[in-house]
Amino acid sequence: MSRQIYISGKFVPQEDARISVFDHGLLYGDGVFEGLRSYRGKVFRLREHIVRLYESARAIWLEIPMSQEAMQGAVNEAVRVNKIDDGYVRLVVTRGAGTLGLDPNRCSNPQVIIIADAISLYPQELYEKGLEIVTVSVQRTSPAALSPRIKSLNYLNNILAKIEGLQAGCIEALMLNHKGEVAECTGDNIFLVRRGLLYTPPLDAGILGGITRDAVIEIAKDTGIEVRECALTKHDVYVADECFLTGTAAEVVPVVKVDSRTIGAGKPGPMTCDLEKRFKKLTQE
Ligand code: PMP
Repeated sequence: MSRQIYISGKFVPQEDARISVFDHGLLYGDGVFEGLRSYRGKVFRLREHIVRLYESARAIWLEIPMSQEAMQGAVNEAVRVNKIDDGYVRLVVTRGAGTLGLDPNRCSNPQVIIIADAISLYPQELYEKGLEIVTVSVQRTSPAALSPRIKSLNYLNNILAKIEGLQAGCIEALMLNHKGEVAECTGDNIFLVRRGLLYTPPLDAGILGGITRDAVIEIAKDTGIEVRECALTKHDVYVADECFLTGTAAEVVPVVKVDSRTIGAGKPGPMTCDLEKRFKKLTQE
């Protein structure tokens, strides 16, 4: 199905949605993006995604040429004109066309692109049986090199980790940070359950501040579960009672095996299933 793509301030058929080969988003991965989800035509946590986008842009000295309110309006419009009920929205802001040099000052026209489309999900079986993941040798970028808080168009770090995971037969891979602590997966945050408490690495472990992560922390606290954001090691993962991942596309997905070790009882645990259910309910509100 041909989609209507928002680009340069208007909607055009996807065949006509083009950017310059001189765009630094393409040449250098110089830009930022968001992945959002719509449920029954309503974009989940739209404001939070927009705030993260503008913070990512600010961190790379990229001025987005429209207000946050106008951006929210454009995302809603993209969902509406493409008649998306349950779907996915990709929001991209590139540095714009420049010269064949790094200097972003030569790029005068940042491009805002919004694609609203169907969503590709993990197979349902994985939610019922749980996921197997592996720890990969590719470290998450050190915040001193490029902050993982910035959702930039340069995802090579995660892509290399993903390839290593896929080569080991796993669709998600666990990345450690420069200190050897648990950071996050290639496109998802990680949570552990141990003796009734919920654990997740803190933002300063060098991770993306996931919107789903925030929602799950909120839900857990509202349910009376104690949440600890603290440094975690691979050992903590191996001895956890439960493990799950969170992300816009994945929502809450149980993990039952890490590095060939069975986690907990080897099936999705009770707290994971409960949070999964509560999160789903939140998306339908
Ligand atoms: N970590 C990384 C590296 C990601 O790319 C994503 C997905 N964008 C997440 C975590 C999960 O974030 P969110 O819940 O906002 O989708």
